[in-house]
Amino acid sequence: MSEQKTMRAARLKAFHQPLVVEEVPMPVPGPDEALVKVMSSGLCLTDVHIQEGIIKSVHVPYTPGHEMAGVVVQLGRNVQHKEIRIGQHVVCGIDITCGECPLCRAGRENLCLHRIRIGFERNGSHAEYAVVPYTNLFPIDEKIPFEQAAIIPDAVACMLHAIKDQGQVGKGTRVLFYGTGALGLQGVQIAKWLGAEVYASARTQAKLDKAAELGADVVINTREKDLIEALNELTCGEMCDVVFDLVGQEDTLDMLLQCIRPGGKIIALAYAVEKFFINSQETVIKEKEIIGVRGSTTENLRESIRLVEEGKVIPYISRRYQLDEINQALDDLKASKSIGRSVITFTHDPVTG
Ligand SMILES: [Zn+2]
Ligand SMILES: [Zn+2]
Repeated sequence: MSEQKTMRAARLKAFHQPLVVEEVPMPVPGPDEALVKVMSSGLCLTDVHIQEGIIKSVHVPYTPGHEMAGVVVQLGRNVQHKEIRIGQHVVCGIDITCGECPLCRAGRENLCLHRIRIGFERNGSHAEYAVVPYTNLFPIDEKIPFEQAAIIPDAVACMLHAIKDQGQVGKGTRVLFYGTGALGLQGVQIAKWLGAEVYASARTQAKLDKAAELGADVVINTREKDLIEALNELTCGEMCDVVFDLVGQEDTLDMLLQCIRPGGKIIALAYAVEKFFINSQETVIKEKEIIGVRGSTTENLRESIRLVEEGKVIPYISRRYQLDEINQALDDLKASKSIGRSVITFTHDPVTG
């Protein structure tokens, strides 16, 4: 008698409800897929948005989780002789893209018109195992801890895309991370690597201390100081070239328009509200740009893995949870309790896996 294999997964069964950790059938990889033993799964504010039902393409019940690192344990029929082997440490790209639409062909596959995302439209990594298309697996050096590897596809690669592609940041660019935390603390390191002059602001001193430790040249506590006044003083009125908005409240962009010079850029990464209000003159006659960011390209992901392997970026994790604690983890995320990124770590039984 063959017993059906099962695994534990955190399931979102209904919007606005806690996740349910339960035994589910072990997924089986299709011909072009692999089964990954998840070792670490990153938690993202998008997980909260998903739970709140804001992401319309998500259908319940399903298993969320879109930042994963783990070990390949089973390969589909068509994947047997390719470069990925059993036992390989991997990180998983989030977007499954079509490769054929105009945006994919233009190298902007992060905006693919037909994309399906792991942990959104299909099951993700808040589970002991996950099935992933072969083309979404990226090998990573075994010396990189799984928890650091897990957040590369989202927190690191997305910041690389924001800073390098959207912000065009280079040597000497004066940048500000507004709301330095889970994303900004990775961004500070990337911007320093590119040679930028880095300012970081936050309302929590512990985040700013971490930002300074990771290389920020100037930190500003916005609970104590007015940001515009402080920048005006520190830059002798020149203000910043590029600002990264990691807060995304209704009036955030309007305030940040005053933190950049004429012709400067705001790179918008956060959307905590449905609409933003901005000053028309600041935008129009000063040629200030507001540029969005969605995920990252495959090239951004490959480069992010290289940066981490070479020690130029050390993904910063500040909280670790077990799968059973996932609802606590999401509540903590909502309450902004964590300084940096949070992850779920898995301990697999050494015998049964
Ligand atoms: Zn995310
Ligand atoms: Zn496409």
